[in-house]
Parts: sequence; structure tokens; C-alpha cells
Amino acid sequence: MSATQGEEFMITVSDLTFDYASHRALHQVSFTLEAGSVTALVGPNGAGKTTLMRCIAGLEVPLSGTITVADMDVIERPREVHRLMGYLSDFFGLYQELTVAQCLEYAAASQGLPPSAIEGAVRDTAQRLGLADRLSQVSGTLSRGLRQRVAIGQAIIHNPRVLLLDEPASGLDPEARASLAALFRQLQASGMTLLVSSHILAELDEYSSHMLALRDGRILEYRALGQNIAAATSRRIRVTLARPDAALTERLRAQAGLTLHAHDESSAEFDLEGDDAAQAALLAALVASGMPVLSFAEHKENLQQSYLRSIENHQSAAGGAA
Ligand code: ATP
Repeated sequence: MSATQGEEFMITVSDLTFDYASHRALHQVSFTLEAGSVTALVGPNGAGKTTLMRCIAGLEVPLSGTITVADMDVIERPREVHRLMGYLSDFFGLYQELTVAQCLEYAAASQGLPPSAIEGAVRDTAQRLGLADRLSQVSGTLSRGLRQRVAIGQAIIHNPRVLLLDEPASGLDPEARASLAALFRQLQASGMTLLVSSHILAELDEYSSHMLALRDGRILEYRALGQNIAAATSRRIRVTLARPDAALTERLRAQAGLTLHAHDESSAEFDLEGDDAAQAALLAALVASGMPVLSFAEHKENLQQSYLRSIENHQSAAGGAA
């Protein structure tokens, strides 16, 4: 099934404000998630990630603002929205006495699948999650990682177009995390739109296309990942030398169209205006001037760096405003 059946944006959140009895958890949050994207929802404890997910899942009623999923308002049309959405909460529960097959059958029936489709859906989902040989095992006897997989299976049994996952990898060992990451890539390849919260940024980095950073109930930043940090007309480059050379900084400062950032005698990071030819020409010039260039490459930010930069920008903006 294609996730992009006409909608460019799968989730649209507009001016969302959410209050607990004595605390405002979300302040006029607005963003859109493209169909087929995988968005890493990041932020410190208490930022509002779970609250935001619960609002998108239609489990909380906001004070103000609107949320649409595939152009349907989640408050006005909850049943239709739930048909095309899967949600794994941070503290999920399984019926301990049911077998894996029964857990999946129950989820399929509660998602409204017709009885004739349930057996096939259970088989396909178990296959997708590597649970095919566990179908008759009682869920209460499964390891944490396998229970997590059953819970994800319950969330995707109806082949949703949108999947919300709150801390899906918590408590998993490295191998289980790797297989979860592979599953998310597979779900995205099948056209699903994913919103995944986690504190383990390196892991989100493996499969996320976008980052949504929250802090104190406000959006710090929403952006596509894997793009160069420099503006589109320039590129961020990192050069390292095999041995220190005091002339490196001076040489780079003399270069037209170059903005120097972090640097010392052995390495430098800078933005260079221009295309591949400009990059190649600078490398050739450094080598020709006798610099022992060890590496010279375009530098793309990972999720951790992107997130820390959002926080830095936020702090300096707040400092500037003070
Ligand atoms: P974590 O990373 O720790 O899971 P989070 O980003 O998911 O945090 P939320 O659980 O959404 O954050 O909480 C946002 C804010 O709302 C926090 O300040 C939290 O204390 C508060 N909060 C959450 N649930 C309730 C509740 N039921 N009643 C009152 N305040 C709450």
C-alpha cells in the first residue's frame, strides 16, 4: 500500500496547546510531517514528547489547536484516524497469559479487521517481526526484546499508514536494537510515516529522515537530516593534516569564499562557497603548497550534532534576548 495517496503531509499539527491541571505541557506547537518520512522526536525529560504523541493519537484533548492525520481531524474523526494509525506507548502492556498468536489476533480484531483477514495478518506480522516461530509461546514468558516486538506487531497488525512509537528501544540489547532499526527501515520502505521518540540519538540517526526537537513544550527545531549544515550555496568541509602545520589557518583565511569555524594547527572546519570544482581546487592548492593533507571531506551532521546545535542556538538566542 502506498502511504502517499494524495496527501503530501501525513500529519499536520497547528497551534497545539495542551495543559495538565497545573502545568502547560505544549505551547502552540505547529509542524507538518511529510508522508513517508521518519521523524526522530527528541528532547530532554519532560519536554512534552509523550504528551505530543498522545495528542496525535487522539488520546488527549488539547486546550486549543488542531491535529490532522491524512487530512482527518483526530478529535472529530477518531475512529477513522485509528484505522490508519499504529501507536506504541512508552509503557505498553501485553496480556501475559495469551500466546503471541492470541495477542496479535486480539489486536487485529480490535483494529476492526474482518475475521477472514485475521489469520493472514497474524502470519504476515509475525514474519515481519521475526516472531513466526514464537506464535504459540505465552507472552508472559518472553524476554523484554521479544515482548517489545509483539507490542510493535500489535501496533502494525492493520498495516497502518502512520506509526507513532514512544521509546520503542528502551530496555533492548544492542542486537535487538539493530533488528528494530532494520524493521523501521523496512516499514518506511513500505511507505509508512513514522514518528519515533528516543533518547538514544545514534540509533535514531540510522533510520530517521527528519528531526523534531522539543524543549519545555516548544519546538526548538524541525528539519531534514543528512543535509549539509552550511547553506545550499556552500558546503561544510573538514580538513585534517598528518602533522601540525601552523600555516594551515593562514592559508585558509586567504581563500576567497571561505568562512573558517573550529581550527587548530592540525585540522579545520569551514564553509566553502561553490561546487565540486571549487572543493577540488582548494584541496589541490593545499597539497601543492606542501600541506600534509590526511583527509579533506564534506562534513554532514549526525542527529546528535544536529540536536546539540539546536540547543546551542536556542541558548544563544535566549541569552541575546535577555
Ligand atoms: P520523558 O523523556 O521523560 O519521557 P517527555 O518529553 O515524554 O519526557 P511528557 O511526559 O510529555 O515529557 O511530559 C511533559 C510535561 O508534562 C512534564 O513536565 C511532565 O511532568 C508533565 N506531565 C506529564 N504527564 C502529566 C500528568 N499526567 N499530570 C501532570 N503533569 C504531567
